[in-house]
Amino acid sequence: MNSEKLSARLNTVAKYVAKGARLADIGSDHAYLPCYLAKNNEIVFAIAGEVAVGPYQSAQRHVVAEGLSEVISVRLGDGLEVIQPGEVDCITIAGMGGALITSILEKGKEKLGSVTRLILQPNISAETIRKWLIENGWELIAEEILEEDGKIYEVLTAEKGNVLRPYRGNLELGVLVGPYLVENQTNAFYKKWTAEIDNWQRILMQLNEAVQTPETLDKKRELTNKIHLVKEALKNENA
Ligand code: SAM
Repeated sequence: MNSEKLSARLNTVAKYVAKGARLADIGSDHAYLPCYLAKNNEIVFAIAGEVAVGPYQSAQRHVVAEGLSEVISVRLGDGLEVIQPGEVDCITIAGMGGALITSILEKGKEKLGSVTRLILQPNISAETIRKWLIENGWELIAEEILEEDGKIYEVLTAEKGNVLRPYRGNLELGVLVGPYLVENQTNAFYKKWTAEIDNWQRILMQLNEAVQTPETLDKKRELTNKIHLVKEALKNENA
């Protein structure tokens, strides 16, 4: 991967950045995403934010080598602290866990005033992000799921709006698996959730053999509910 040709995962993130956006890519590493978007004239300005020195330096080197220093500002800092209020209208955060992505958004809430679109690509736990979006007034407007090099990724795009609209009354299932993804089940979706059900069933068997404390019983109820919910959803779509 480089800024000429992104991975399928980052390419999916790039697809949702609106033309002419003022972007902050948080956790930018080599700054491939902002460089690709700037080279294709898709954005007018970007901040490539990085908390770690090594990736920050490699982002800087890359932006300079591409001659993009006028358009892309590479900044060292934690999460949204690299953004000045009002500087950007779009934020991308890709390649981290859902919990880290939501903690970055939560800590930097005061920087979101001018932001109209969030594009988030969790490697795990998209559920945590959907919950955060609902609690903070962001409506999911699109979701994609894709498989690359044997891994499955989700890309969630949100704008301020009616947070419950995409869920159409099935909040619990929608938050878990994605309200758009469940409506249009792809091979990647099917693969992800059949593997997850197998995993939950394995854990359930282990819990059945453990001492039955109130916590064990709670965990078993939670897993049984999830298995039932997701199995029903897969059955309905693939019947
Ligand atoms: N976004 C790129 C991608 O999707 O290919 C890079 C993903 S890389 C796995 C995650 C990057 O996020 C690392 O370079 C890490 O240093 C950075 N990161 C983690 N926590 C961060 C934070 N709180 N603020 C800024 N960057 C962070």
